[in-house]
Amino acid sequence: MTAAIAGTVLVLNSGSSSIKFQLVHPETAESVAHGLIERIGEPEGRIVFHHTTGFEEHLGAITDHRSGLRMVLDMIEGLGRPLREAGIVAVGHRLVHGGEVFHEPTLIDDAVVQAVADLSVLAPLHNPANVIGMEVAREELPDIPHVGVFDTAFFHDMPAAATTYAIDRDIAREHGIRRYGFHGTSHDYVSQRAAAFLGRDRADLNIIVFHLGNGASASAIAGGRPIDTSMGLTPLEGLVMGTRCGDIDPGVVMHLNRSAGLRVDAIDDLLNRRSGLKGMSGVNDFRALLRLVADGSEDAKLAYDVYVHRLRRYLGAYLVELGGVDAVVFTGGVGENNADVRRDALAGLGRLGIVVDPEANATRADTERRISAPGSEVEVLVIPTDEELAIARAADALAKSLPR
Ligand code: ADP
Repeated sequence: MTAAIAGTVLVLNSGSSSIKFQLVHPETAESVAHGLIERIGEPEGRIVFHHTTGFEEHLGAITDHRSGLRMVLDMIEGLGRPLREAGIVAVGHRLVHGGEVFHEPTLIDDAVVQAVADLSVLAPLHNPANVIGMEVAREELPDIPHVGVFDTAFFHDMPAAATTYAIDRDIAREHGIRRYGFHGTSHDYVSQRAAAFLGRDRADLNIIVFHLGNGASASAIAGGRPIDTSMGLTPLEGLVMGTRCGDIDPGVVMHLNRSAGLRVDAIDDLLNRRSGLKGMSGVNDFRALLRLVADGSEDAKLAYDVYVHRLRRYLGAYLVELGGVDAVVFTGGVGENNADVRRDALAGLGRLGIVVDPEANATRADTERRISAPGSEVEVLVIPTDEELAIARAADALAKSLPR
């Protein structure tokens, strides 16, 4: 087992109430171990740990991120040698908000940790957890490079017309209010894989990516550079999500405050955690939504229709922004697995050169694949995302570029 760990990158994704981790070989993409700690800070915490020789589950309270992460590192140590001698070559940290500061994989030092902490105003649930992840991992693995890969980075150079909100410019500047975009690692990875699948250079392609998971976002990528994306200052803007509303008239917020008497924290909770599919239908998981639709729930059917309507609205916008598209790509748990959403999002677009092949679309697989009909001008692809691998590769590349 120790031999298998040697040469891996440890990828850490410290979320608001969970930590995901993976030990992966950056070159071969072989995953040696992965797991999840969830419900941190709640009485019923849970740790799931998969490794090449088995699977472990632990239930019980996990008081905070610091102790959760120490448990992860202990479990990895339990696989063989002491952590520092196991041969891990780098730690890749998924970091959510890089603000205006970070736009590429970054070697983590004290100043970077402080800068990520300072950006917490823009991502109050995520950046503080990211900071703890960096602090603990650096204490436990002090002798190898730690690399931050930012969810916002890929979108850093989008055109100003796409990143600027039409509000008072002084207030916008003072408070960093602009559109940043998220899921960037996935949009970047999936668009690269799409170009490779087509045997083309990404620089020659216009691509629209729909990343549809619990969170969901779309991007328009021209020649490898994103020109627009659906998430904004925070990951609340854009598509309909499991529990988030996506685009909404900001007047709703004022109305909820003035007429319903809700304060800002309650509105935050409502729009981030009790809206989207869950708000409209009672469930946030797409499979559960489809079961409700099949059982005849009108609320669930409407939620599905709103979800698809929003996808089509973004598709139309991005087709025009790009001035034509070579490939539409679906990824994320819903995008990879749900044929109905893909069919309905692209239905009736033959005049725009987009024709889905019903049989290819309905065929289940977990591989990269084409689902457009043979005569379709636009390629329609399903590309499984792998943010951990992308982070591991970025961390490994940066680590290898350092002077020894
Ligand atoms: P996250 O954003 O948390 O990484 P995922 O990308 O794993 O989320 O996507 C989770 C979503 O994918 C859930 O709504 C889940 O129901 C949906 N999903 C996963 N598998 C399937 C499937 N076979 N059919 C339909 N939806 C699926």
